[in-house]
Amino acid sequence: MSKPKVAFYWCASCGGCEEAVVDLAEDILEVVKAVDITFWPVALDFKRGDVEEMADKELAVSFINGAVRSSEQAEMVHLLRAKSQLVVAFGSCAHLGGIPGLANTFDREAMFREVYSNVPGLDNEEGTVPVPESVVPEGTLSLPTLWDTVKTLDQVTEVDYYLPGCPPPVKLIKNAVNAIVSGQLPPHKSVLAPDIALCDECDRLATKPDKLSIKEFKRPHTSVIDPEKCILAQGFLCLGPVTRQGCDAACVKGNMPCTGCMGPTSRVHDFGTKALSAMASLADSNDENEIENILGKIVDPVGSFYRYSLPASLLHRGYVPSVQGGRKQ
Ligand code: SF4
Ligand code: SF4
Repeated sequence: MSKPKVAFYWCASCGGCEEAVVDLAEDILEVVKAVDITFWPVALDFKRGDVEEMADKELAVSFINGAVRSSEQAEMVHLLRAKSQLVVAFGSCAHLGGIPGLANTFDREAMFREVYSNVPGLDNEEGTVPVPESVVPEGTLSLPTLWDTVKTLDQVTEVDYYLPGCPPPVKLIKNAVNAIVSGQLPPHKSVLAPDIALCDECDRLATKPDKLSIKEFKRPHTSVIDPEKCILAQGFLCLGPVTRQGCDAACVKGNMPCTGCMGPTSRVHDFGTKALSAMASLADSNDENEIENILGKIVDPVGSFYRYSLPASLLHRGYVPSVQGGRKQ
């Protein structure tokens, strides 16, 4: 009997999700035994044409990581969707927009201006920026178009399942592959991780007071974190109470606060708002000015609360006044 065919593809991401697949270590041999990897450009020499030649739905599943922010990524995503029975949004960026999604606080022109004009030490006197088409003596060269707006995978195509995390934990990847190979799939469109808050799997839970109140929010590089006690109770912004579990509280084990990469549980519509309201409720004061002072210590609220989820949020992106209607794409 032929093995199910599987594809891995990356869009706008750092490459960490591909590393997570490699982190399966010798278990990757079990995966290879069970499935036939027929497209994995980062590791094996496959080309887009190989996918184009496949029959529709020939692939059992495509694991797609990264947010979608260019015409080329959108084309590949639509192509893989047509050739796949299942599409899994793999990792925070495909799931919620991820770190690349923070670019939604700018538009393309602003980013090009910064990268191609303002960066110190830049040697670009002619102010050259990427353009979709350039005519040269040999003909016309084309480049993918970078979008103004970074999108989650399910804002571009239909997604069947979500594997959360930055990157997804190895045990969740294994569980997902096993579920697909055995046909024992959870309900359609599930997030393939426990639907419970991270604190419940954290070794420090016993040291988290029932009633938390915080006089000062601190940043990890400004003070030493006690490795035995709840990090949030020490005043560091740990988002464990509002984050989905499944990573074994990996960052907390490394004595760093959780920044929320696994995203919210199913009961939360907007991760950033939930995180913001949870942290704001901990301010230890009834005085408006003092509360403002306590919360004012939280540097970069968008980066802190929407670090992985701005494109998936109700905000979706920053308002761009130069664009009619404030939104593009
Ligand atoms: S707030 Fe952070 S450190 Fe405290 S119990 Fe939750 S995950 Fe653990
Ligand atoms: S502790 Fe938080 S940030 Fe770290 S891997 Fe787990 S969910 Fe992600």
